[in-house]
Order: sequence, then structure tokens, then C-alpha cells
Amino acid sequence: MAKKQTKERECSFCGREIPFGQFIIGGLNAAICEDCLLTAVNIHKELQYHEHVVAIDKLKKSMLKPKEIKACLDEYVIGQDEAKKVISVAVYNHYKRLFSTVEVKEKDDVEVEKSNVLMIGETGTGKTLIARTIAKMLDVPFCIADATVFTQAGYVGEDVESILSRLLQAADYDVAKAERGIVFIDEIDKLARKGAENPSITRDVSGEGVQQAMLKLLEGSIVNVPPQGGRKHPEQEFIQVNTQHILFIGSGAFNNIDQIIAERINTHTIGYNQEGRSIQKDDMLRHVTMQDVKSFGLIPELCGRFPVITALAPLDRTALKNILTQPKNAIIKQYTKLFAMDKIKLSFDEAALDYIVDKASALKLGARGLRSIVEKIMTDAMFEFPGSKMKHITITEDYAREHFELSE
Ligand code: ADP
Repeated sequence: MAKKQTKERECSFCGREIPFGQFIIGGLNAAICEDCLLTAVNIHKELQYHEHVVAIDKLKKSMLKPKEIKACLDEYVIGQDEAKKVISVAVYNHYKRLFSTVEVKEKDDVEVEKSNVLMIGETGTGKTLIARTIAKMLDVPFCIADATVFTQAGYVGEDVESILSRLLQAADYDVAKAERGIVFIDEIDKLARKGAENPSITRDVSGEGVQQAMLKLLEGSIVNVPPQGGRKHPEQEFIQVNTQHILFIGSGAFNNIDQIIAERINTHTIGYNQEGRSIQKDDMLRHVTMQDVKSFGLIPELCGRFPVITALAPLDRTALKNILTQPKNAIIKQYTKLFAMDKIKLSFDEAALDYIVDKASALKLGARGLRSIVEKIMTDAMFEFPGSKMKHITITEDYAREHFELSE
């Protein structure tokens, strides 16, 4: 602790006279010499590093094996077995790589490369859900960034660095914590450049500029991050964030990429491949490669930053019905619980569930539409029955239809 300063040029910590020419930081009744200041800074750094090592050790001890990660995903995400498997392995390897950097071990020259993941699949198929569930499982900071809001430097809009502002926010501004977090970049396909192979792309050359800007983030480098995001406060100080161990998960629908895949494997969208096997449109996505993503319009360097690529299948009727009832926090379970809190037993007829699935299929929003459909059907019941004499409600197909159509 600092003692009261007695002489004008005496360090209150070590008591030595501070030589002329050396910095003195003086307080009201105290001063500190350069040496003591450096020592304090080093102690602070060591403490921070120690905290970092402890946190990583904790993460390591609780780290699940790929099969366990997949089993945990299975509780929340219906179907998508292949994607869940690929991502479980990628996440496991990603964190092993992080652990290897803090472990003191014999020097070898093998450097495990970053395994950022690219998920391809229609809207509402579970891409965000998978990423969010993994972050929760590992208890690491997580943020979602929509790629379409970014512009290349010099244009009006958000800089890509602000993605990391969100991660910092999710980590309560604990930089070391943010540096082991997960960033989900949604709609990355919308940054594709216009190309002959994909005339459906609408984004102009600036999309390519954003892709270029993202490279720096994804490759693992030290990035100056504006704490509040955006570039509206040029005077604000930057926070330096090392992206080396941040796991980036890119996601997008990549509309019509099935046609690019079909062309590459020399088959029609619905037809036969060279081995004579039938390939359905929905099945085509499973064959997606980096080459197809490149042909779609992502620049090769960006593709290279996503060494793991996986596709999510469109959800069929069975999957949609299972999503309604099976996951740990399934929509029907949530409503049942809400009613149970009012001592009302809620149940749904199979035909009512089928009706909900019909409506969701028609919306073409994957599982995304399910909740709003159920909400529309249940609003009246949630208004009328709590506090009434009702002890048991069964939602029939007729009830579902009547209340859904009424709200339309
Ligand atoms: P996207 O693929 O567009 O990122 P999301 O993961 O955000 O889709 O899914 C939207 C909602 O639909 C989620 O909140 C989740 O409740 C539900 N959902 C989508 N796919 C699945 C799935 N495979 N299993 C369980 N729920 C799902």
C-alpha cells in the first residue's frame, strides 16, 4: 500500500527518490515512480492472465465430447443429424485448439487451424437454434449479427467491427471472455457478388467489400472494436479484441445453390448422378462444397475462412410436428405449462397438431411459423379460461381452424 509521500520527488511505494527525467505520477499526497508503475501493470496483467487460465480450465473441465455435444443438441433440435454431427466435431476441435494454446507442453510445430463453420439451409430450419444451444451449453458469450446491415468502410452503415461490439456486450465487456465466444453471422449469402452463375443475387459490388472486411475478423487477428458499435462516435476509444479463438458461424439460405450443385455433379435438380442414384432437390444440399459456395458468389478468401461447411435439410411435415411436441422446450409443452400454472390441463388432438403443421408448411418459413400459429389459436383460450371453472381443455381441429381463421 502507498505510504504518505514525505518528499516531493519520493515514490510513495518504494520510497526511492525519483531521478530527474523520469515520469512521476502524482496524486494528492502520493507519487509513483516509473519502476513501481511498471511492476503494478505487470501484476495486473498476470492477474488477468491467471483469471483467463482459470476460466479456460473451467471450460476445459466441463467440455463435452462430440457425441455428448450432439446428444445435448438432440434435446432441442429436431432432425438435422448430419449438421449436428459436423458442428459437434467442429466445436469440439475449436475449443481443443483454444486449450492447447494455454497448456504448457512440448513445443511442436503442429498448429491446429481455426474451424469456423458455414451453415446452409432454408429459413427456420434450426441454424440459429443450433448455434445458440451450443453457446448456452458451453456457457460462452454469443451474439447474432445480420450481414446485410454492414457496409464496407467509407460508406454509410455499420462497420463489420461492430459485430465484435455485440460480442463484447454479451460478455459484459470482459475482453478475455468475449475472445472465447461464438459469433453467428446471419444472411451471409446476401453478401454474394453478382455472378453469371447466380442471377438471383441482388447485392452490388459493396457486398464484396463487406466480405473483404470480414476476412480480417475471421482469420484471427487483433481488431480495434468501437465499444458502442457503429462509427457514430469517432472520439470513442477502441477496445482491442483478438479474434483468434472466437468461433464464427456463418449462416444463410443460399437460394438456388442446389442448381449450382446439380450442375457441378452433372445432374438435373431432380435426376440421377453419375452412379445412377436418384438425387432429389432436398437431398442436393447434402453434397454442397466450398466450390459451390464460391460459385454462388462468396469470394474464395472468405470461403477459405470457413473450412467446415454443412447443410440443414428443409423440414418436412413429420419434423414440423415433432418440433411442436418433442424438444425440451417444445411450443406445446410451453403452453401446457402455462395452463398448468392455472390448474388447467391442456391437450391437443392429433388432428389439431396436423392442422397447425399444414398452416406452417403453407407459410414456407420452416418451423419459424409454428409459434405464431399456435399463439393465434390459443389467444382466446388464454384470455377466457384462467380463473374460470374449466379444468381440462382439448384443442380440436375445429377449434384450431375457427380461431386461426378468425385471427387472419
Ligand atoms: P434459422 O434456420 O432461420 O436460423 P431458427 O433456428 O432461428 O431458424 O429457427 C426458428 C425457430 O424455429 C426456432 O426458435 C425453433 O423454435 C424452431 N426450429 C427451427 N428448426 C428447428 C429444429 N430443427 N428443431 C427444433 N426447433 C426448430
